[in-house]
Amino acid sequence: MSLRKRISLRNTLSFRLTLWYAGIFALSSCVAFLLFYALITSFMREQTDQDLLAQVNRFSTLLVSEEIEAVKSAAIIEAQAAGVKKVFFRFLSLNGQVFSSSNMAYWKNIDVHETAIKQLLRDRSHVFETITIPQRKEKVRILYAVLGPTIILQVGQAMESYSRFLDAFKGIFISTMTFLIVVAAGIGWFMARRAVSGVEAVTRTAQKISGGTLEERVPVKTNGDEIDQLAVTFNQMLDRIQTLLTEIKEMSDNMAHDLRSPITRIRGIAEVTLTTGKSLSEYEAMAASTIEECDRLLDMINTMLMISKAEAGVDHLTREEIDFAGVVQEACRLFEPTAEDKGIALSCHLPDESRFLGDTRMIQRMLSNLLDNAIKYTPPGGSVSVSVSENHGQVVLSVEDTGVGISPRDLPHIFERFYRGDESRSQTGIGLGLSLARAIARGHGGDITTTSNPNQGSTFTITLPKSLPSHS
Ligand code: ADP
Repeated sequence: MSLRKRISLRNTLSFRLTLWYAGIFALSSCVAFLLFYALITSFMREQTDQDLLAQVNRFSTLLVSEEIEAVKSAAIIEAQAAGVKKVFFRFLSLNGQVFSSSNMAYWKNIDVHETAIKQLLRDRSHVFETITIPQRKEKVRILYAVLGPTIILQVGQAMESYSRFLDAFKGIFISTMTFLIVVAAGIGWFMARRAVSGVEAVTRTAQKISGGTLEERVPVKTNGDEIDQLAVTFNQMLDRIQTLLTEIKEMSDNMAHDLRSPITRIRGIAEVTLTTGKSLSEYEAMAASTIEECDRLLDMINTMLMISKAEAGVDHLTREEIDFAGVVQEACRLFEPTAEDKGIALSCHLPDESRFLGDTRMIQRMLSNLLDNAIKYTPPGGSVSVSVSENHGQVVLSVEDTGVGISPRDLPHIFERFYRGDESRSQTGIGLGLSLARAIARGHGGDITTTSNPNQGSTFTITLPKSLPSHS
């Protein structure tokens, strides 16, 4: 394995999780071992101390009924019976002088500790100590106890079996732990691999997508766990990106198409005038047509810019108090002559006052797009009715006409940029009016909806919150 690969393995989540599993396992096992060890040690010491105290009690009872000589002999016999390498007895005077003992050949290195004698004589009935015989690495538990008014008994017991048990315990623990830590690391690695396999699937899909295949999706299992949720969210994000890209592509196709028509016309008029035109009036007509086409182009570009601005959200809108009823009344007044010319009855039903925070210029543009459409798509003799009301802290604008209506086929698409219904081909327009109206409504935190029946008319309803949503 190359150095780079090794480094990257060490950086993987699986590796780190495995280390954590194994580390936590090892740490908790060590804590458990130490607790056990301490418990066993104290239990065994307690046991030894009980044995030593029992010996002392036996000899002091004996001393009550027998002479000291009999007690000394009993001690020698007791040491031989237990094993001279296991137990020893020493009889001391109160100043620590040894006046009798069991066989001490094995215990030559063990002295009488002055401090222990002092402690014993001060206030204690017995004193324990543990000493290690350096050459043998063996521990001995020693008890000093007052046996009679002038006699101190020193009893020692080898803790050899106790040390052997603890050494065996340590050995078994270390080998078991080593085995279990290896197993825990293996299980940890397996579990970590399983946990991150979902993330790897997302990564692989992301890599394929960056390679150009936006149709790829992450396979979703049915566990419903966090990884599944990640996969579902990732797929939803991809769906959204794909839809947006399709929309952008369609929009740029439509835009290219809509830009080409006026430019082709401008070029055609200029070419015809140059090749055939002789008089000044013909050149004037060409200039007028060019201005007209340029205005159309500028209108389209400005509308696109306005849509982008409205879609960029609330941060890009002006916040000012708008007298909405007044703005709608003004718009109705402006469109009155056009409606009248076409023989359409335009009526406005407005409350005395309806105010909210928003961008006046944008709101005016939205209104004029809706009114323009209503009059444009309503044949002479029809009517257009505009009304404003308030509902649950929202301002509701409704523009209702008795016009040609929108076919169910067109209805889902009318808010798309450059989309124009089949019925509207005979009318002027570039297919951006409703896109802008919706962008403005949404930019103000509201929305626009439509209901329509072909040949009966359409109703556009806009709801706007009374205050702009807060900056995010
Ligand atoms: P246009 O420039 O074509 O009017 P819009 O974006 O304003 O573009 O409208 C998109 C399409 O929605 C129109 O082409 C038309 O088919 C339909 N439409 C909009 N308003 C009305 C209406 N009031 N009545 C019938 N159809 C409408």
